[in-house]
Amino acid sequence: MTSFQDWKPRTVAVHTGARRSQYGEVAEAICLTQGFVYPSAEAAEARFLQTGEDEFIYARYGNPTVAAFEARIAALEGTEDAFATASGMAAVSGALMAMLRAGDHVVAARALFGSCLYVLEEVLTRYGVRVDLVDGTDLDAWRAAITPQTAVVFLETVSNPTLEVIDLPAVTALAHEAGARVVVDNVFATPVFSRAADHGADVIIYSATKHIDGQGRCLGGVILGSRDFIRGTVEPYMKHTGGAMSPFNAWVLLNGLTTLDLRVRAQTETAQALAQALQGHPKLARVIFPGLADHAQHAIAKAQMGGPGTVLALDLADGKEAAFRFLNALRVVLISNNLGDARSIATHPATTTHQRLPDAQKAELGITSGLIRLSVGLEDVADLCADLMVALDAA
Ligand SMILES: *Cc1c(COP(=O)(O)O)cnc(C)c1O
Repeated sequence: MTSFQDWKPRTVAVHTGARRSQYGEVAEAICLTQGFVYPSAEAAEARFLQTGEDEFIYARYGNPTVAAFEARIAALEGTEDAFATASGMAAVSGALMAMLRAGDHVVAARALFGSCLYVLEEVLTRYGVRVDLVDGTDLDAWRAAITPQTAVVFLETVSNPTLEVIDLPAVTALAHEAGARVVVDNVFATPVFSRAADHGADVIIYSATKHIDGQGRCLGGVILGSRDFIRGTVEPYMKHTGGAMSPFNAWVLLNGLTTLDLRVRAQTETAQALAQALQGHPKLARVIFPGLADHAQHAIAKAQMGGPGTVLALDLADGKEAAFRFLNALRVVLISNNLGDARSIATHPATTTHQRLPDAQKAELGITSGLIRLSVGLEDVADLCADLMVALDAA
């Protein structure tokens, strides 16, 4: 048998990280326990030295089912190690808090998930971290903002909801020249299409709530990086501050990883077909999808991701009223705000996920009143296409 280092991603996704008990169960068991029993007082003393692998003490520090999920996602992403967290935001805030101290400087792309913006602008600055936001697609802006004081560069490789793609190798080179580490929130790229580690990202973060679960059941997150970083920097912070993933969620998400590749590729193929079918529709001012040749960063997306992803954005020419008529006419696609789910989901960012942003900031980010984010699911492409066309007629 080949070692898992030689396995292709689909084999890794099915087998890596499985820990069978003495019963030899086929499906991974859930180790639903907060703690662990020691055979003797001496064993308890030794366990607290935490010198070996698999030396579990308390589920806030680690748990066998959580460890199985961490091993599988690290092998898929191609990093040495991973730390699983209670949610994507526990991963983002945990990684940044563990890495930064007062006086440090952070440069981040401006187009970020709302909660990431909150952590950067409202939380880190309270503790003496300086934060500068730049247009992520403008390399001159990155060059001007990154200085020798910059400790961390933070970005979403593909931004939410306007799907700008950042030139990761170029930004990483600028950051590393200045001695900064690059932290990438990689949700939209997905672990299937990510090449973030190959392109020099030091830390890669996922909300596992999205494609990794892919069926809308559990919150989860993960921080990926070198073993030294994960065990030396992230683990001490996370285990004492309490953002651990629950063993039950780890078990659901571990099984999510098993089918992730198939789901993401099928959803991406459908997203590409829908983007092409919708392009040029008279009710739409724009169709934004990194897989379309007219996308501003189409070439960058092609060079740095294995596929364009499962999300597209539609800009209805007649604004909010048209967007609402469109949403209310959908019969297959659900109105909700998750993404990466097996069910297709439409979101109106201006009135929901990005509601709290001032109008000027919405305009700067391209969040118009007609913008719809469409997360494409696993339904038949013909049914989705018909649903969207009928809803566009109604808009
Ligand atoms: C959803 C999301 C998060 C937050 O993840 P949760 O699991 O909801 O905490 C962070 N970043 C991006 C890009 C996301 O899409």
